[in-house]
Amino acid sequence: MSSRPSSLGQSARAEFRLIEEFRKRFGRVGPRVVRGIGDDTAVVRPPSGSDLLVTSDLLIEGIHFRLHTAAPADIGYRAAVANLSDIAAMGGVPAYILVTVAIPPNITPRSIMRLYRGLMEACRPHGVQLIGGDTSASVHGLFLSITVTGYVPRGRALTRAGARVGDLIYVTGTLGDSLAGLQLLENGRGTEKLSSRARAFLISRHHRPSARLTAGRTLIRHGLATAAIDVSDGLSGDLSHICAQSKVGAEIIATSLPLSPACRAYAAARKIEGASLALQGGEDYELLFTVPPSVRARAERLGRRADPPWTCIGVIKPDSFGLRLRHPDGSVHPLPATSYEHRLPGRSRAREVPCSP
Ligand code: ADP
Ligand code: MG
Repeated sequence: MSSRPSSLGQSARAEFRLIEEFRKRFGRVGPRVVRGIGDDTAVVRPPSGSDLLVTSDLLIEGIHFRLHTAAPADIGYRAAVANLSDIAAMGGVPAYILVTVAIPPNITPRSIMRLYRGLMEACRPHGVQLIGGDTSASVHGLFLSITVTGYVPRGRALTRAGARVGDLIYVTGTLGDSLAGLQLLENGRGTEKLSSRARAFLISRHHRPSARLTAGRTLIRHGLATAAIDVSDGLSGDLSHICAQSKVGAEIIATSLPLSPACRAYAAARKIEGASLALQGGEDYELLFTVPPSVRARAERLGRRADPPWTCIGVIKPDSFGLRLRHPDGSVHPLPATSYEHRLPGRSRAREVPCSP
């Protein structure tokens, strides 16, 4: 690394040094890890009575993020949250993370360390330990693949497949903040009157989202939810996954969509509907889940006390109903199952992570 500070190059020694650095700085592990970074595989001791959850995500420079608009620490942070959020949506407790990087010649080891710092900043509050990964040079572009494992009480994982007609649809927190934050970063014109506090809130919701792990565990502990998913692609797109797997339809009430005061102020400044931000926005990483009417009162009680609180936004309908939105005037229209597209060669619209370098 010191002889070629700007590049991992093709050198096995540089790779070895980098891995050693990962181990020293981020590889501290607890007693359940028999072997962490440094052996042929990690060895962990799973708790008894649990099912193992495993999730993986691939992030590619130019498609999921761009390094000249995103700080490495934020890329790392968001990458970890995306995986932690999947564990939350199953009702699980996250345990371990494995990180695979392919590093192009123009990326410095220092940037990679910053990326890891962001990753581990998101993991540490949840006790998630780094136990391995893989490292390679890349000819062109940075590749980052994250695997997160977790545990859930045996047979209790919250799938997308259990929603039934009549179940209430709930969401944690507020929707649309991340999209508003992204739009502010891309082009703040017309929002001069927005307070700096609201602006900072929305941008931080974009850069540093939270995985709703406590909510997922509460749902499991109280046996409340019949289905769950995290909102990573946009409410309508993610709800359509629950509907497809549960073979049901759904009606969403536009006026019930939870918006933060900052998002409302942003929508007003831009003269757009707050509800459309909530419906289209992805990457809020809130949990979307369904609750049978028989346990509604308990869900409401727990949801009021929760941080952030939960909001009922609609009801599950028969499959033939499709996916519809009830507008403030009472009319009901089909809800297009939009979801975010990542930048692909030749496409015009991108999902990326802009922020100052
Ligand atoms: P192998 O030849 O078995 O792939 P490596 O030399 O790639 O072994 O890895 C050695 C150890 O370092 C393993 O424990 C592996 O999990 C860990 N490791 C490699 N790359 C990373 C990385 N990017 N982040 C965390 N751990 C890593
Ligand atoms: Mg390897």
